[in-house]
Amino acid sequence: MIKIDSIKKGIVIDHIKPGCGHKIFKDLGLHKVDYTVVLIKNIPSVKMGKKDLIKIENEIDLDMTMLGLLDPNLTVNIVENGRITEKIKLKLPEKVKGILKCKNPRCVSTIENIPDIEFTLTDPENKIYACEYCDTPVKA
Ligand SMILES: [Zn+2]
Repeated sequence: MIKIDSIKKGIVIDHIKPGCGHKIFKDLGLHKVDYTVVLIKNIPSVKMGKKDLIKIENEIDLDMTMLGLLDPNLTVNIVENGRITEKIKLKLPEKVKGILKCKNPRCVSTIENIPDIEFTLTDPENKIYACEYCDTPVKA
């Protein structure tokens, strides 16, 4: 068990695939914040062998859709008064808006530069999403 008592109030992102912590850290913009954030790499884990972990000593609005897309196996722990008050198990989002881009050059969204296109999960195994305008599959 990782002790989280160094955090009073904040968020712990757990079960990050070893080696992936840095990418998630950067994707969340944590490398440029002014509150305490910690990235711990290669922690021994019974379930995963090894894992990375991120501690955020602040209440922030995490984009669960983006996080789920990055790694659907993550657990997000909400910490208050040094204790975990909520455990959120992430999963691949059914719908993703404004994150993915259509790769079909003839898609109306590409031609007309439409922002925030919605993609729908069609193949969870391979993280494939379909464009709402042309159904072109995109790998997340
Ligand atoms: Zn499209």
